[in-house]
Formats: sequence, structure tokens, C-alpha cells
Amino acid sequence: MASTLTRPEGFRGEFLLPSDPAYDKYRRPWNADHEHKKPSVVLLPLGATDVQVAVNWVRSNNLQFAVMSGGHSISGRSVKDGAVLIRLTRMNFVHVDPEERTAWVGMGATVKDFDLETNAFNLCGVGGQVSHTGMGGFTLHGGYGAISRRYGLGVDNILAARVVLADGTMVEATETKNPDLFFAIRGAASSIGIVTSLKVRLYPLPEKDMMCSGQAFWIAESDEEFADRVRKWAEIVDKDEPNLYCSMVIDSPPPPPFNGRRTFIIHTAWLGDEPMQQAQELMNTHLAPLMDKKPLINAIDPKPYAVFNCMQDVVGGYGHKKRSTGASTDDCQALVKLILASEKYRTPASVYLVEHWGGQIVGVDRKPEDDLVYGTRRPYSVMCLGNLDDPSTAKKSLEWLQQFKALAKDIGVGVAAYVNYTDDHNKPYGDCTQKLADVKAKYDPHNLFPKFAGM
Ligand SMILES: Cc1cc2nc3c(=O)[nH]c(=O)nc-3n(C[C@H](O)[C@H](O)[C@H](O)COP(=O)(O)OP(=O)(O)OC[C@H]3O[C@@H](n4cnc5c(N)ncnc54)[C@H](O)[C@@H]3O)c2cc1C
Repeated sequence: MASTLTRPEGFRGEFLLPSDPAYDKYRRPWNADHEHKKPSVVLLPLGATDVQVAVNWVRSNNLQFAVMSGGHSISGRSVKDGAVLIRLTRMNFVHVDPEERTAWVGMGATVKDFDLETNAFNLCGVGGQVSHTGMGGFTLHGGYGAISRRYGLGVDNILAARVVLADGTMVEATETKNPDLFFAIRGAASSIGIVTSLKVRLYPLPEKDMMCSGQAFWIAESDEEFADRVRKWAEIVDKDEPNLYCSMVIDSPPPPPFNGRRTFIIHTAWLGDEPMQQAQELMNTHLAPLMDKKPLINAIDPKPYAVFNCMQDVVGGYGHKKRSTGASTDDCQALVKLILASEKYRTPASVYLVEHWGGQIVGVDRKPEDDLVYGTRRPYSVMCLGNLDDPSTAKKSLEWLQQFKALAKDIGVGVAAYVNYTDDHNKPYGDCTQKLADVKAKYDPHNLFPKFAGM
């Protein structure tokens, strides 16, 4: 059906109707499970004032809408069928202040935009582990990156935010200016307003722009070998070395038949300030338990940070149908138990992404929990990404996610409350729920923006 919508007055950016050749490019979400959703129109604002025009337009015309930064929401929250899509892609500036070690980041920037610009000043900030992810959704709802064990989550590094509210006004929020708004956008921004830009902290890169970092890859040929790999990873991270980042991805090697074989990848970096040679030695010492079997590929070496942060881009690529669940825990051994128990239900193209949080994420000098809406800070996190591409295994992938949750409950591991990884939880904001509801009532009394989970 042809759209009857016409460009809002004063809107300077692109106004893309379904008949426009560029429409598909900008409405497409990362998760192909939401590919069927076709917005009535895609708006690409050029700046904050365009966002104001867009918000006033949807509100006064009573239009349904969604807001998209990078479009990587796994649960598809950033696109709605038949609704206006406000896509922030054109607002992808990154303005670095090298003296202050801060940057103002437009909420259409990707992690790659952020890395390339900040690294040019020999600085870096907290961005995700896949470089096509949007800095908007990522930073505003948590933001675990390769350097988080040393520098905290994305939300911990926000110094100021510019926000367009439901009534179309634009305000700045900091610890001292609109502090209640500042509290709410650091974890629940999508329910409060549209953040147009963020001022974030930056840090020096270890040596020039180089980091000892990369990936190592094994194929486990049997159940025993698989369990051995997982246990050795746990042995390494359980030592809680703050300068070691080491996450693992468990998958299955194509092509089928898999015959019980699994791929096992670690994604790792040394975050300390030591000179490169020493950093490499320290890395080797820490990873020694896993290196008892030579990796099929070992790409852990000095490389630019931005290159390292692209290494998972293909594995995390577009065009696959995914559903997710997850869990987080303080207990590394319980995590191992859970993975080994649920592995027999996993379908081949489905993956576990297992992360060691902790470090500065739970650091002692962090602000009290209720200063930030974002609250889930347990040291270990696992996300299960069920793959639904193949209709013959899609049902089994969904069953795996259910089995995982049931096993997590049996083993006593909490189902994750990390809103960026899964919507599969009732009350992600825990003790902050009431305070957050009060802030929402103040800034968005008519619920123009979606209610948050648990409200
Ligand atoms: C391949 C891949 C890799 C990932 N890697 C990591 C990782 O390393 N670490 C991690 O912590 N997470 C990671 N995630 C999860 C990721 O952080 C979330 O999916 C995040 O929401 C993506 O941000 P986005 O801007 O791309 O998403 P979008 O889909 O654009 O947005 C997600 C949500 O945020 C809202 N939103 C976006 N921008 C704004 C804004 N400016 N103001 C208000 N609301 C806004 C949207 O409306 C939506 O509700 C990854 C996800 C994928 C798919």
C-alpha cells in the first residue's frame, strides 16, 4: 500500500519511502529474524534539530515510531513494521578533545567510526567487540568491550548526554545538570528519549596504537576435549588478572556432519601499559593452560586496536535469524557446569559467547549501584545465540534456549539481565526499577517512548 506520509516541515535529512532505492539499506536490522518489518518511512536526521523535528512530527501526528542507531538489537527493538523509523546513521561524528581525553560521539556512529577517530589521537574508548555495532544502543544500555575489564562499561564512561525528550525539547544531562535524566539514560535510554550525542572518556592506547591481541582457534574433536577446553579457559580467567581480556566463542565447524566436533575460539587482549615484548610474555604466561594444544590458527600478536576490534565482524555478520538468551553469575565453575550441561541441546550453527566481566566493571572505586540504572555486574556472562536460518533445525535451536534457561535455574545461575544481549528477563533494572519509573513519568509522562521491561 502506498504511503500517504509527507516530509515533516523543516526536516533537512533524507525522507525515504518504501519506493526509494535507498530505503532497504537503511531500514534493514542486523537480525534477519526481523527482516520482515517494513517501516512506513525512514528518516535520516542530519543533526539534533532534525531529531527534534522528527519527534514533534511523530507525536503530533500520533504515529508509531522506532529509533535505530546501528540496528544490532538482537530482539529487534529498533524497527517496527509499518512505523516511522528514525535512523541516526548520518549523525556519526566523533569529535576528540585530546587534551581532555574525551570525545563527543554522534549516536549514529558505529564502533568502527569511534575506534578509527579516537585511535588517530592514540586514544581509545569503550566500544563493542564487533565494529559494525552502533555506539548508540551499545553504550546507552551497558556496553561491554575488550577494554572494559580495565576501564569499565560504556555506561561508566559517559560524562554528558544531549537528549531530545518526548515534548521535543533538547536538554543536556550530566552528574550535576538534570542528574535524574543522567541516571536514567545510562541503561534505559530507549525508554526516555532520543540521545543525539554523548561525551565519553578516552584512554591512552598501550604502545603507539598497538595492542598485544587477537584470536586463537581450535577444533575440539570429542566431548572430553571440548570439556577440557572450556575448563582451561575457566582456569585462566578465574585468576582475575585485570589486564587480561579473554572471551570465548563456541560454535561448530562447517560443513556438516559435525560428529560432535566444535570450534572453540578465544578473543583476547593484554590491557596493561607494559612495553610490547613484556605484554606478549605476560599474555603467553596467562594463556599457557590452553596452549597445551597448538591452535589451528593463532593470530595473537601486536596489532592496531581498531584491527583487533574488527576480527569478529564476519562471524557477527548481518543476514542470519537469531534469538538469544543468557545468564550471568559470580561463580566461574557454575558457568562451566551450565555450558557443559546445555551443550548437548545446542544446534550446530548456534553459538555461546562467554565473557569474563569483573575487573573495573565491578571495581571498588565505581559509583554506588543506584547511581546507574545499569546494574548487572556479575563477573561472568554467557549469551546463547540460537540460529533459526535452517527451518529443519530452527525449532531445536529454540528448544536449546529453553533448556539452557531451565538448566541455569537448576544450577543456580541467574538468567541474565543484560538488556543488550537479551530481552529474556522480567526485571532487568532490579532495585532501580521504581526510581527509573519516576524519572520516566517526569520526562515522558505519556509514554511516547516504549516502557522499559519490568515497568
Ligand atoms: C554482532 C553483535 C555484536 C555485539 N557485540 C557486543 C559487545 O561486544 N558488547 C556488548 O555489550 N554488546 C554487544 N552486542 C549487543 C549490542 O550492544 C546491542 O545489540 C546494542 O543494542 C546494539 O546497539 P545498536 O545501536 O547497534 O542497536 P539498535 O538496534 O540501533 O538500538 C538498540 C536499542 O537502543 C535504542 N537506541 C539506539 N540508539 C538510541 C539513542 N540514540 N537514543 C535512545 N535510544 C537508542 C533503540 O531504539 C533500541 O531499542 C552485540 C550485538 C551484535 C548483534
